[in-house]
Amino acid sequence: MADFGFSLKKARTVYLSKTDMRKAEQLIAAVPSYKLCIGCGGCTASCSARQFTDFNIRKAHNHFRRGQYDKLEEELQKCMLCGKCTLVCPRGVNLRSLIINMRQILSNTTEILA
Ligand code: SF4
Ligand code: SF4
Repeated sequence: MADFGFSLKKARTVYLSKTDMRKAEQLIAAVPSYKLCIGCGGCTASCSARQFTDFNIRKAHNHFRRGQYDKLEEELQKCMLCGKCTLVCPRGVNLRSLIINMRQILSNTTEILA
């Protein structure tokens, strides 16, 4: 096969109907502005932490809302809570609050399971 210097990513399927979405629902309830997110990536493009790490805030919050929490708690620690992403978001999503709430929800599993 010819080598074009790039490859297509493998298709990924997320079965939301088979996923426990309680944490994602709790996040939306805590930060209603997140419902307006269109996934544009402006937050990632402006992220201060991204200049120094591989942190991708859009990927992080997308994973959270799809119920994919693997390694997310560790990933979110890379955020410095500077708030720049909140300033640039074209949809007015309160990202700083979103990140704080994602951290809190992930560290407090007992509340979710109760
Ligand atoms: S900048 Fe706002 S609308 Fe765009 S992906 Fe980030 S949170 Fe969503
Ligand atoms: S608050 Fe966190 S995610 Fe937002 S720009 Fe600052 S370091 Fe990046």
